[in-house]
Amino acid sequence: MVQAVERKKKEQEIVRKPSIYSMELDQLKSWLVENGEKPFRAEQIYKWLYEQRVAEFDEMSNLSKALREKLTESFSLTTLETIIQQTSKDGTIKFLFQLQDGYSIETVLMRHEYGNSICVTTQVGCRIGCTFCASTLGGLKRNLEAGEIVEQVVKVQKALDESGERVSHLVIMGIGEPFDNYDAMMSFLRTINHDKGLNIGARHITVSTSGIIPKIYKFADEKLQINFAVSLHAPNNEIRSKLMPINKAYKLPDLMDAIRYYVDKTGRRVTFEYGLFGSGVNDQVEHAEELADLIGDLKCHVNLIPVNYVPERDFVRTEKDQIFEFERTLKKRGINVTIRREQGSDIDAACGQLRAKERKEETR
Ligand code: SAH
Repeated sequence: MVQAVERKKKEQEIVRKPSIYSMELDQLKSWLVENGEKPFRAEQIYKWLYEQRVAEFDEMSNLSKALREKLTESFSLTTLETIIQQTSKDGTIKFLFQLQDGYSIETVLMRHEYGNSICVTTQVGCRIGCTFCASTLGGLKRNLEAGEIVEQVVKVQKALDESGERVSHLVIMGIGEPFDNYDAMMSFLRTINHDKGLNIGARHITVSTSGIIPKIYKFADEKLQINFAVSLHAPNNEIRSKLMPINKAYKLPDLMDAIRYYVDKTGRRVTFEYGLFGSGVNDQVEHAEELADLIGDLKCHVNLIPVNYVPERDFVRTEKDQIFEFERTLKKRGINVTIRREQGSDIDAACGQLRAKERKEETR
């Protein structure tokens, strides 16, 4: 009993402290000034965080002891604990991180010819409810703080440091709906993109949404160089509503208007993710033709995803020949299309297979 109370108290103390990685450079400068310190210390701290990647505030040896103590009192330097790090046959690495409140999240590192790409998580669970996806099975537990997203990249980069490699690309396609945690996502983007932060180029970053329309307009107005993807998965409103309940609130015609606004406003193309579900759900030539009618006049790219197996879901995978036929049909209509290479499927790290695990009971 006493132990439980103590633990609870300790937890509350921990929870009160924000992650230092949630502090954007300017915010850190203001915090320092408010605490009677010189603003240039922010750059020094950033170097320790993002270049040296230290594990303790006490390692920040060019700061005064008093400042290190103040930092320790005010912030957490570690909010993620690596529980599992698993490498797939193809080199994909899946990380299971435990958060301070006992929840856990997954992050994946993928190997490509063009570099190492990390797939980050933005929420514990998800409330979007897509009928084919594992991440949404337990609903949404909570949003991640910006720093908890940043720290995923720092942790994975640290794991790569041993072999002298670098995380060069980033996709916000892990657990959660990034546009449902918009402010934290934007803060995360500013920090990892910052040349004094992790310095990952905007053109190397992709954010994907299930289609939260108001946030698509907002994102378009930010006029960033970041790549933008929409999980479309259907050539018409009816099929999309069956696959993705969010389509009932944010209907396909309105979604297309928002996407057009994005393309007009930014001059950038949009990527459509289209999962191919077998048994004729959305994978027939007629669906490809209908899709071409829907998006043909847009500056876009289609990424076909052979659907991944999720035990709780009963979707079947489209046969290879049918996938190629779908691709050919789109190509004939002049649409830019690729088939997503599958990675990490032997360690359940592929699209739609990530799940937030409730580990409270297991770990206490
Ligand atoms: N919530 C955002 C970010 C997740 S990205 C979004 O929906 O875009 C993950 C991608 O994998 C999405 O395109 C999602 O629709 C897709 N996906 C989910 N479950 C899948 C499955 N079982 N097989 C293949 N792709 C899946």
